[in-house]
Amino acid sequence: MPVLVMKFGGTSVADLARIENAAKKVKAEVERGYDVIVIVSAMSGETNKLVGFVEGTSNLYDAREYDAVVASGENVTAGLMALRLQEMDIPARSWQGWQVPINTTSAHSSARFISIPREHIDAKFAEGFKVAVVAGFQGVSAEGRITTLGRGGSDTTAVAFAAAFDAERCDIYTDVDGIYTTDPRITSKARKLDRIAFEEMLELASLGAKVLQTRSVELAMRYKVRLRVLSSFEDTDETSGTLVCDEDELMESKVVSGVAYSRDEAKMTLVTIEDRPGVASAIFGPLAEAGVNVDMIVQNISEKDIGNRTVAVTDMTFSCPVNQVARAQKAMEDARASGKISYDDLVVDTDVAKVSVVGIGMRSHAGVAAKMFDALSKENVNIKVIGTSEIKISVLIDRKYMELAVQALHDAFDLDKV
Ligand code: ADP
Ligand code: ASP
Ligand code: MG
Repeated sequence: MPVLVMKFGGTSVADLARIENAAKKVKAEVERGYDVIVIVSAMSGETNKLVGFVEGTSNLYDAREYDAVVASGENVTAGLMALRLQEMDIPARSWQGWQVPINTTSAHSSARFISIPREHIDAKFAEGFKVAVVAGFQGVSAEGRITTLGRGGSDTTAVAFAAAFDAERCDIYTDVDGIYTTDPRITSKARKLDRIAFEEMLELASLGAKVLQTRSVELAMRYKVRLRVLSSFEDTDETSGTLVCDEDELMESKVVSGVAYSRDEAKMTLVTIEDRPGVASAIFGPLAEAGVNVDMIVQNISEKDIGNRTVAVTDMTFSCPVNQVARAQKAMEDARASGKISYDDLVVDTDVAKVSVVGIGMRSHAGVAAKMFDALSKENVNIKVIGTSEIKISVLIDRKYMELAVQALHDAFDLDKV
């Protein structure tokens, strides 16, 4: 039998009625002749609640116990989905990560897949089971401990199963009817795309569009999984939603195809550091060791009078997620105390957001940056840091202007028009 993977996110399994609604969609695919692997998230809000329990119990918590707690939300929905399918006379059972087993690295809360052996699930399909309901987001390490894949990780579970089982398609059911030119919660002008290239979706996801976890897009691209995003609340068929596909399967190709944002960023500036070889490494080494995900980096050369001579000095600015600021600050203060670096001041701005435009067309078009900066200046939005790559331009701005900036860029690049 051909295999189909169907993933239901938190809002799609938020209560028993929604689980029943999702189960009906699964039933329809079984009736079309598929063996179905269903990947479920925890009920919406549940993972946040579990994270809160852990943080309320322990400040510097044991990451293994964090994973043991936060993975449990998916166990509940997997069991309930299997029960609901059984009630509909569909032979189904649930699988927790360790039962498959979904083998992962031991990097707790950001584990990666090592292998997904097929034999247990294949054996059940051979026995006549029609649906394997698998708890998303979780796995098991070589040490036998429960691991999780990072927030939004059920998307990645779904794609990994689609690759492992040569699924015909991986359908990601969620609370929007596809991938839009930007988050439809920010502007009603956001337009649903029929298709989007893997590369573009990869950038959008990594720049903050949480409709798909970045790693899921990476895996789909590598293993050539046909990945689709569609609504669990609407009637859908084979043409519904947005297909994430190879660039050469695209019909339209605009210069800019989407705008992404990341709300919770912070900007840190080390004021007056020495300008000599080895300084950047002395700064970013300790940050990496402290687990800080540094994103944008800017270095400004200047000169400073010391007594009767002038020496070259520089300010180093970098951005990181706002919840990593305390760690970054401590890493810098420790590096200064141990004499590895010197600086006059560490200025922290925790009220910034990142807004980015993405499009594969940028590879061959000039003027995108100019247009972007012009649109922001017309709205009086000050740009604090700029970062570019082949198919994206990102700016760091005051968080209070984030929505405005997204809307202005969406208009400037005519993203509401086909
Ligand atoms: P799930 O719980 O199903 O995994 P998520 O909340 O993780 O759902 O992802 C869906 C949400 O992603 C949407 O409700 C939407 O607000 C947001 N989103 C951000 N950017 C986009 C985009 N470009 N297209 C569609 N949705 C987006
Ligand atoms: N439940 C997890 C989370 O909220 C994983 C997921 O839904 O994809 O992050
Ligand atoms: Mg999600």
